[in-house]
Amino acid sequence: MDKTSSFSIHEGKPIRCKAAVSRKPGEALVIEEIHVDPSQAYEVRIKILCTSICHTDVSFWKVESGPLVRFPMILGHEAVG
Ligand SMILES: [Zn+2]
Repeated sequence: MDKTSSFSIHEGKPIRCKAAVSRKPGEALVIEEIHVDPSQAYEVRIKILCTSICHTDVSFWKVESGPLVRFPMILGHEAVG
């Protein structure tokens, strides 16, 4: 693999990318450009090629409150990159 790929120039820097964002429970998802901070210790950044919405995503998308529910929410954790 070419070590000078465009992805490596972003190492340690914030990036902007697209995400399916939910701002309120059950409302239609909107593809938005978002800001992503640089990776921290024990994190990796992966260029996502495609993703899907699974049953867990749909459950969290529809739930209005709970310890793990926070909006805005980015759905699509089952991805390939
Ligand atoms: Zn899932």
